[in-house]
Amino acid sequence: MSKEAGTTVQEQPDEKVTDDFALPGVPDAFQRLWTPHRMAYVKGGQGQFDDKDACPFCAAPGRPDEDSLIVHRGVHAYVVLNLFPYNPGHLLICPYRHVPDYTDITTEETLEFAELTQTAMRVLRKVANPAGFNLGMNQGTAGGAGVAAHLHQHVVPRWGGDGNFFPIIAQTKAITQTLAEVREQVADAWPAG
Ligand SMILES: [Zn+2]
Repeated sequence: MSKEAGTTVQEQPDEKVTDDFALPGVPDAFQRLWTPHRMAYVKGGQGQFDDKDACPFCAAPGRPDEDSLIVHRGVHAYVVLNLFPYNPGHLLICPYRHVPDYTDITTEETLEFAELTQTAMRVLRKVANPAGFNLGMNQGTAGGAGVAAHLHQHVVPRWGGDGNFFPIIAQTKAITQTLAEVREQVADAWPAG
């Protein structure tokens, strides 16, 4: 009986079993990453940011760093704390120009955009010792951008296990009240020049 079973089709490898990690992409990390900060903006509707004067990323550089939560000002782009962080130290790299798409920025802007992203990672490693990062740009409202009209790159520090509780406490005052403190810490650690 067992000899017979050994020759049946049941003994062939089950090709219907698929390992998720054999495919490109990580099943759930991005869903957890983008939702909280996105919702804070999305509540107000997308239309309000079509007007450049109402754009939070155009308005921020016009205010003092402490008020706008800016940690560094470059030539073509600046770095600001996300007002609605997924994790403490969640930074955004923004060109000064009000352009929506990654293909809209010039070579010079792209270079500084990339350099500021690298420096942001180095600074966050220095001050907060994260175990990893999520970097990314949501392009268009369909791509999940909260402020689709003004390009911005997310730099999110990650620590092991943070996904278990930060989505909950990120909505509380406790995180908001430390934003000024986090801004100062990151700004102080940002290399001069
Ligand atoms: Zn803008």
